[in-house]
Amino acid sequence: MPRYFIWTIGCQMNKAESARIASYLDSIGYQVAAAPKEADLVVLNTCVVRQSAENRVLGTLGLLKGLKRERPNLSILVTGCFVDSNIEGLKRRFPQVDFFFKPGAYSQLTSWTQKQGISTTEQGLLRCAHNDTGKLSSPCAFIPIIQGCNRFCSYCIVPYRRGREISRPLEEVVCEVKELVKRGVKEVTLLGQNVDSYGHDLPGNPDLADLLTELNGIDDLARIRFLTNHPKDISQKLIEAIASLNKVCEHLELPVQSGDDDILKAMRRGYSVEQYCELLRAIRHHIPPVSLSTDIIVGFPGETEDQFEHTFSLLKEMRFDVVHVAAYSPRSGTIAWRKYEDNVTPEVKKKRLSRVEQVQAGIAAEINSTYQGKIVEVLVESKKKGKWYGRTRSDKLVFFADNNDCSGQLMKIRIEKTSPWSLQGKVEYNS
Ligand code: SF4
Repeated sequence: MPRYFIWTIGCQMNKAESARIASYLDSIGYQVAAAPKEADLVVLNTCVVRQSAENRVLGTLGLLKGLKRERPNLSILVTGCFVDSNIEGLKRRFPQVDFFFKPGAYSQLTSWTQKQGISTTEQGLLRCAHNDTGKLSSPCAFIPIIQGCNRFCSYCIVPYRRGREISRPLEEVVCEVKELVKRGVKEVTLLGQNVDSYGHDLPGNPDLADLLTELNGIDDLARIRFLTNHPKDISQKLIEAIASLNKVCEHLELPVQSGDDDILKAMRRGYSVEQYCELLRAIRHHIPPVSLSTDIIVGFPGETEDQFEHTFSLLKEMRFDVVHVAAYSPRSGTIAWRKYEDNVTPEVKKKRLSRVEQVQAGIAAEINSTYQGKIVEVLVESKKKGKWYGRTRSDKLVFFADNNDCSGQLMKIRIEKTSPWSLQGKVEYNS
C-alpha cells in the first residue's frame, strides 16, 4: 500500500484542508506514514502570510529536494498560499516538486491522482467524510466553509493566493458535520478568511446565521464555533443568532488591526475605530457572556508613536480576552508593498509588540481571575504532561487532573487557579 505524509505550515484553515486531503488519500488506498522519509507521496501545505512562514516553506522545500535526490520515485505535491498563478515559474524554481495545486482546488488534486492511474472523482473527495466510519481521535473538528477573500486589505496576500470567495453549499457542510458527529465529534469550528461573507455566492444567498441555525439542530453536536469575522461585514442577524442558538459558543474573533483611523484607512479595513467600538458594545450588550479575541499589527508603514498609542489605548479600553499581535512585514504583490515604505524600524516594531503583549497579559490575567471558584463546562480534548485539557464555551483553556479517560467528554470543572493564558481546576461532577 503506498504511503503519504502531509506537512502543514500555517493556520487552522490549512490544517482543516490537510485533514480533507488526508481523508481523500485514505479513501483511494494510501496509508499515512510517520515521517516524510517513509512516504511515497509528500503533500506540503503552505502559508506565506508572514515572511517567517514563507521562510519555513522554502526551508521545507530544500529538505524535500534532498529526499527526492535520494529517492527519485518520491512524489511531492505542494498546495496552500505559496502556490500563486504563476505555476510555470514555480515549476522552474522548484523542479523537485511533481505537482502544484491551488488551495482548495481539489479537482486539480483528483486530476493528478487520476493521471497516476488511481481512478477517482472530486465528488469522492467531497464525500470523504462519509466513507470513513471509525471514531476520530479528537472531539473537535475544523471545517472550511468559504475559500478566498474579496476584501483586499492593503497588507494581505491572501486574496491574491486564495482567490475570490467561494462558499461551500450549505447542505454539503451540514452533511459533513452530521457524518463527523457520527464519528464522535462534539464541537465544530467553521472556517473562512471572512466567515461573514459566507453564502453570498450561493443560490438563495444563505448566510452564516442560516448555517448556524441548521447546524444547531444536529443531535449530539454540543458546540459550534466559527472564525474569522470581519468588523465591516458582521450582521445584526448573526449577533442575534449567536445570542439565541444554544450550541453556538459565545466567542468571537474580530480583528481590529489598529486603533488609529488613518492607519485603518491605509490598511483598507473599511471601518473607523469608533465604528469598531460601537460594534463591540452592541455585541457585548446582546451576548453578555461573550469573550472576544482580536488581531493587531504594529509598525504598519508610517505608524507614528501617537498612532501606536491610539492602538494601545484601544486595547486598554476595550479589554479583549486574547490579542494576537504581529509586527508588520511587507508581502510582495500587496497594495501596501507597492504603495508604502516599510519605514518603522525593527527595533521600534519589537518595542511596540512587547508593549502590547505586556499590557494584554495584565488584562487577560484580570479577566481570567474572574473565573476563580466558578464551575465551567469543558469539552475535554486530550492529555498533556499528565493533565487533561479542553476549552470552555468562551474558549478558555482549562487543565485538570483525573484518572479516568475523560477524552471527548463535557466535564464540569471548578476553577482553582488562573493565569493570563489558562485556567486550572478540579472535576466537580460529570455532566
Ligand atoms: S479580510 Fe483582509 S486580512 Fe482578512 S483575509 Fe481578507 S484581505 Fe486578508
